[in-house]
Amino acid sequence: MAGYVMEEKKEAIGLKYSSTRGNGISLDSAEAIIQGLAADGGLFVPDTLPQVDASFIASLQDLSYEERAEKVLGLFLTDYTADAIKGCVERAYGNDKFDAAMRAPVTIFEDISVLELWHGPTSAFKDMALQLLPQLMSTALKKTGEAADVLILVATSGDTGKAALEGFRDVPQIRIMVFYPEGGVSRIQQLQMLTQEGSNVNVTAVRGNFDDAQSGVKKIFGDKAFNEELAVKGVKLSSANSINWGRLVPQIVYYFSAYADLVKAGRIKAGEAINFTVPTGNFGDILAGFYAKCMGLPVHKLVCASNANNVLTDFLRTGIYDRNRDFHKTITPSMDILISSNLERLLYHMTNDTARVAGWMKELQTAGRYDVGAELLAKIQQTFWADWTSDEATEELIGRVYQQKHYVPDTHTAVAWKVAENYQQATGDEHPMVVVSTASPYKFNGSVLAALGADTKGLDEFQLLDKLQELNDNPTPRGLAALKNKQQRHTGICERDGMKQAVLDFIG
Ligand SMILES: *Cc1c(COP(=O)(O)O)cnc(C)c1O
Repeated sequence: MAGYVMEEKKEAIGLKYSSTRGNGISLDSAEAIIQGLAADGGLFVPDTLPQVDASFIASLQDLSYEERAEKVLGLFLTDYTADAIKGCVERAYGNDKFDAAMRAPVTIFEDISVLELWHGPTSAFKDMALQLLPQLMSTALKKTGEAADVLILVATSGDTGKAALEGFRDVPQIRIMVFYPEGGVSRIQQLQMLTQEGSNVNVTAVRGNFDDAQSGVKKIFGDKAFNEELAVKGVKLSSANSINWGRLVPQIVYYFSAYADLVKAGRIKAGEAINFTVPTGNFGDILAGFYAKCMGLPVHKLVCASNANNVLTDFLRTGIYDRNRDFHKTITPSMDILISSNLERLLYHMTNDTARVAGWMKELQTAGRYDVGAELLAKIQQTFWADWTSDEATEELIGRVYQQKHYVPDTHTAVAWKVAENYQQATGDEHPMVVVSTASPYKFNGSVLAALGADTKGLDEFQLLDKLQELNDNPTPRGLAALKNKQQRHTGICERDGMKQAVLDFIG
């Protein structure tokens, strides 16, 4: 009887998720996570944002990262039991998978703090979300009684593929297949994928570039006859990219965690507002910071840092999003992106107007451009500030930070660090600044060593790792060091029009 009453209460406070484009369908978080994208092409957003108070934030201080995650996730995943969330979090972040006791530690300097999100198994911040998403998805399949096996299809330009493989390996009822462009990823990234272990994984090279791999995957998702063929085999397709709510919600946790660590270290007083600067591509990471602020975390400004693909800088300064521009290949490849999908969620929360959001997304698709107008721009600018840096400025910053602090930021982190400096100079704002650090410098060792002026002529990947370790206080991450002696298990390669057949060959 008591259980029945509790169920009633849970139902009453249960958070629902619906599309940014307003098709009227509202789902529990488990269903939204399985489905990934809303049926109208929109993204799932929570109908209301949970609110926290000072005592909630104070209560995080003496907790482990896993315990902090349980508390924050519980506010959003109201259809998961506390025990289920605990299990998911422990499988994601426990088991010695991260090489830092606090999982996402903050390194504090006098003038700036660095939130390090790269201590997971693949040395990039994607691990923070892609370790947890598979656990949330697998629990959701059980909860909803889904009978089919799920096949996750990923097209990757490097980081996402490996992080998704590590997260989904050996997760029951789920298989994962990653397509990468032959010759289109760095040698380290390729080795990371080719040596992937697990009984449910496949990695296939595509003879083409990233766009070919990406459009091949999109075509498979949209191929009705093929999806029916898979359904007969008991297989349902799903996606692990950053439009899935299950990839966004884990990222909210580390904003709270960083704040708790700064209070605990005495760097800030409880309740004091701080700024974050985030190296941005798809707008997922910085959007999680926006959610944290809306929930009541004392955040003053969120600074959006871009590279030469500065479409977001222009948008946050003018209100005009225009993807009609040249694409630049930079030393921060994970931010080489012209369509930042998660911006759609920000526009929804800022307007609460699904019709307007749907209109802008339609304009983006047809004209490659939309204008949100002066009023909304002013509202967005109350929270966001934006700037970008060139590769030269990024390299200069790496050299300077190393000289001053004996700390080696990766290239993506360096973009944020430089933009954080620009922000402070331009505005005089003195709120404590946290730079969000998204990759280990070892993952982009070639560019980092060049920025440090090291002589790298003729060195192979593993000699580059050793060389960087001579300069850096942080050791080479285990996952990267171990690559040298690992067997290459995935040598499959297919033509652009052979991806469907490769999927069939994999599922058998
Ligand atoms: C994915 C990625 C980013 C960009 O994050 P978004 O959530 O897409 O904005 C930045 N840096 C690194 C190293 C990444 O892998």
